[in-house]
Amino acid sequence: MVILTVDQAKQWMIESQKKLVEHKEQLTTLDQAIGDGDHGINMARGFSEVVDKIEGTEYDTVADVLKSAAMTLTAKVGGASGPLYGTAFLKMAVSLQGKEVTAEAFVDAVDAGLEGIQTRGKAEFGEKTLFDVWYQVAAFLHSEPYDTWEGILEVCQAIIEDTREMVALRGRASYLKERSKGHIDPGSMSSFYIFQAFVDVLEWEKA
Ligand code: ADP
Ligand code: MG
Repeated sequence: MVILTVDQAKQWMIESQKKLVEHKEQLTTLDQAIGDGDHGINMARGFSEVVDKIEGTEYDTVADVLKSAAMTLTAKVGGASGPLYGTAFLKMAVSLQGKEVTAEAFVDAVDAGLEGIQTRGKAEFGEKTLFDVWYQVAAFLHSEPYDTWEGILEVCQAIIEDTREMVALRGRASYLKERSKGHIDPGSMSSFYIFQAFVDVLEWEKA
């Protein structure tokens, strides 16, 4: 069964943008605590550029939508997060190339995105980065029957909370060493909004 159509993939990007714009201040505040305070701006601007691009473009496949988003994020988002999200979406697109997006295909795509983030950023699980969220979502998708997409949200919320007590070992936050403890990782929070947008888009279709 196809779970994500081309229109839904576009909608996924549009909903992600809405959430990231809505939570721009929150992401900025989180990044002010352990980074340089630009994460909200980076994500809101990047996804607004993505939406500008995809809204005016016709796509034949979900892979094409994600590839287009990837190119825009890599090109337009300053900071570490742009190339990381760009790579994640590009690898997802490659994984979905020539396929309909069934649940199985989507799970494979998340695995590919996760691998892309790791190749690019060299993070391991538990190093207080957005990789932690992708890792847990991928693990969840492998452990659960595919009709429980909403379960992704709980998984994200739990790992986001776990990042608070982690010491950052990658990116700008790692400069703070032990002092990075006590704060949620901003990139984990933005990844949550992207997965939440995905779940929302699937739910609308069911309703
Ligand atoms: P910058 O750190 O360059 O200012 P952003 O503020 O936009 O970029 O993004 C910061 C987020 O990027 C962090 O919260 C973290 O989740 C993520 N990040 C940084 N470096 C890495 C890395 N090497 N691997 C995975 N994620 C990373
Ligand atoms: Mg930053």
